[in-house]
Amino acid sequence: MDHFLYRDGVLHAEDVPVTEIAAAVGTPFYCYSTATLERHFRLFDDALEGMDHLVCYAMKAASNQAILRTLAALGAGMDVVSGGEYARAKAAGVPGERIVFSGVGKTEEEIAAALSGGIRQFNVESEPEMAAISAVASRLGREAPITIRVNPDVDAKTHAKIATGKSENKFGIPISRARDVYALAASLPGLKVVGIDVHIGSQLTQLAPFEAAYRKVAELTETLRADGHDIKRLDLGGGLGIPYERSNTAPPLPVEYGAMVKRELGHLGCEIEIEPGRLIAGNAGIMVSKVIYVKSGEDREFLIVDGAMNDLIRPAMYEAHHDIVPVVEAAPGQVPATYDIVGPVCESGDTFAKGRDIAKLEADDLIAFRSAGAYGAVMASEYNTRPLIPEVLVNGDQFAVIRRRPSYEEMINRDSIPEWLEG
Ligand SMILES: *Cc1c(COP(=O)(O)O)cnc(C)c1O
Repeated sequence: MDHFLYRDGVLHAEDVPVTEIAAAVGTPFYCYSTATLERHFRLFDDALEGMDHLVCYAMKAASNQAILRTLAALGAGMDVVSGGEYARAKAAGVPGERIVFSGVGKTEEEIAAALSGGIRQFNVESEPEMAAISAVASRLGREAPITIRVNPDVDAKTHAKIATGKSENKFGIPISRARDVYALAASLPGLKVVGIDVHIGSQLTQLAPFEAAYRKVAELTETLRADGHDIKRLDLGGGLGIPYERSNTAPPLPVEYGAMVKRELGHLGCEIEIEPGRLIAGNAGIMVSKVIYVKSGEDREFLIVDGAMNDLIRPAMYEAHHDIVPVVEAAPGQVPATYDIVGPVCESGDTFAKGRDIAKLEADDLIAFRSAGAYGAVMASEYNTRPLIPEVLVNGDQFAVIRRRPSYEEMINRDSIPEWLEG
């Protein structure tokens, strides 16, 4: 459920008509709903009630400072995957003890920054990385709390580009080698083993792959404890999917996920961390775009809109579906039209939808891409020298620009001219 609903035929973000935002900021833009972000965070927090737990928002899904502050105010921790994200989390006021550091290639600079600024734990993904964390921690005279990310060799049954839990993926260490790697961790200076980490992929639409992975983690917990390791924390990753198509059956709900976690892991007495990203931000955001032209092709009509693949790359990159709706609803009785909905970028991949039924539209009409809050703005680029589009946050009847559109001049002035080309 989200807070983007029609009132009197006009799409609203909470209590604000989307047409009003478009008039104020121009198109295209991203628009997020505070109430939806908060609701989704609470769904997870409530789902784990009764267990010692921390919901660490995977901020790579949508990392605007205003979004981070909104979630941090509810007590969210953050899952970061780069030094930049760590800095963003700190800038949003998240204390180090609520930040977990994931990712397969943490550099020594990133490790040092997190150790100095405070960190809940590093999720270690390989032996060389473990050695690097040990070395940096020893040099700084600190102890680095770590979990080791195990790869349970489970098929997440999701898009190949976002499956991470099979043995052929680059993530984690094979669970079959976990005992050896934990023994190594215990022998290295500067490290403190605190638990186990697992994350098998994104946009999972069934509980069974999670369940299979968590069973293996439960077994491993007992084995490692018997080996003498103090396993007190289980980081279960993120990955619960969202309904991108309203017409489709919905993925499991956080409450069902939480019940499964309690069932599979509750007896271990561990503190539970989860790292949802997509489910918190995905349906909390839309991308609003304007029709530039309606172009008749030989056998089809193209809706050419001012948003493009550089603004929302998910369709081009993952063949992702986004529901696309008119911001102003069609008059009753009007027959829908069928379009290929495309952006202006010079690539055939700049196609959002083919043969999509939508209301009959004309130039200057507004459309909204639903479920664009996660992996939308954060994956945008300035390809074709198209400015990064603004982000807007709505809260009840208020809205604010939380990242403004840069001018052409700002974009161009980021380049610098070498001396030999001056004059
Ligand atoms: C991407 C990622 C997540 C978040 O995944 P979602 O599908 O957005 O919930 C969580 N943990 C790790 C380690 C990730 O890489």
